[in-house]
Amino acid sequence: MISVREAREIISSVKLKASIKEVSFDALSGFVLAEDIYADRDYPPFNRATMDGFAVNSENFRGGMKFRIVAEIPAGFSYDKKINSDSCVKIMTGASVPEGLDVIIKLEDSEELPGMNDEKFASFHLESVKPFLNIAKKGEDIQDKAKLLQKGNFCSPQVVSALATLGITNVKVTAPPSVAIISTGNEIVSPESDPSRVQIRDSNSYTLCEFLKKYNIKPEITELVPDDPDRLRESIKRGLEKNILFITGGVSMGSHDFVPAVLKSLNVTNRFHKVGIKPGKPFWFGESRSGGVVFALPGNPFSVQIIYKVFIENFLRNHVGLSDTMSLILPMEISREKKNNLDEYFPASIVNHPGSAPFMKPIGHNGSGDIRAGLYSDGIGLHPASEPVLEKGSLSEFIYW
Ligand code: AMP
Ligand code: MG
Repeated sequence: MISVREAREIISSVKLKASIKEVSFDALSGFVLAEDIYADRDYPPFNRATMDGFAVNSENFRGGMKFRIVAEIPAGFSYDKKINSDSCVKIMTGASVPEGLDVIIKLEDSEELPGMNDEKFASFHLESVKPFLNIAKKGEDIQDKAKLLQKGNFCSPQVVSALATLGITNVKVTAPPSVAIISTGNEIVSPESDPSRVQIRDSNSYTLCEFLKKYNIKPEITELVPDDPDRLRESIKRGLEKNILFITGGVSMGSHDFVPAVLKSLNVTNRFHKVGIKPGKPFWFGESRSGGVVFALPGNPFSVQIIYKVFIENFLRNHVGLSDTMSLILPMEISREKKNNLDEYFPASIVNHPGSAPFMKPIGHNGSGDIRAGLYSDGIGLHPASEPVLEKGSLSEFIYW
């Protein structure tokens, strides 16, 4: 049996062939950029007023001086005439600051005074002003043709916002891998079914589908297959045509656990079977002849959740160019005992005590078949293999769901 660390290393050494596709910028969530993104012009594209107020020239400014107001410039307009040293313009946030003016004095520091013949003047409550007060300078955020985003960037709402600003309406992203999910078990029936006393509704396919949605992966095949070697073989054969095949159930030592033998008969190379982890110990991983991978997971619902978070999510992230999920190191809120020498993952919630850093609190459950196990948690904590007791206050790894 190999350790969690060894299993992670083996999985991360296997690479799927990546392909690229083009996606509209408004359908990007969950994708990762497969191209660098450059600015199409300076940002801001002009000296931009960041306040409503009056634009003046800082060199001409003296405390108590009156300026003639020669124009009013709303956002979206410009003023190109020469402005004399005794003049100013009234300007609104977002408008282009006219040539020769370099300060916006906000309305709150200004007074508008009537003059003769419809003339208007402004005076200010300031003694002096510094150049570029309340002005965002042309090109100060990013300059024309400079790189704004790098290949491998996750498409967040902020990325979509930037692409919209740059007028980039189609972008190249890493295409999601093709996926098949096979849930095995004579007792497994679909959620729509009215199960007999000994039947169980399939939840694992749906758990995996939900996890995969975050990375825009939509399984092309989802099947329920009984513990029958011939039926399994047919189904797994179809599943092997996809980049990733997930199988749940049927990988342990029971007399009806046929999955490893069937995979072997289909020439899938087993890279490991059994990992020093609880729950999820019978986890099986292999590579197909066609360059795909097979993750065969034990069937208990919480085992599926743990194996996905500890091993599979990072494989998917690395495939599209993202780094591993971030784990936190948090103190335990209470102590926790275990009786095995496995890396044990447990559901945990994050609790805040006033005035101190957050703690992780293990959530009790009846094992990996307990349908409530992950329900009330924020993520999972690690109770390392070598430590029989994780003392209250001691630090350990926490991974958000
Ligand atoms: P197995 O790994 O096939 O020995 O299954 C372990 C446990 O998980 C058994 O109690 C199964 O009934 C249960 N199980 C297997 N597959 C599923 C599934 N798709 N949905 C919910 N429970 C399952
Ligand atoms: Mg089974």
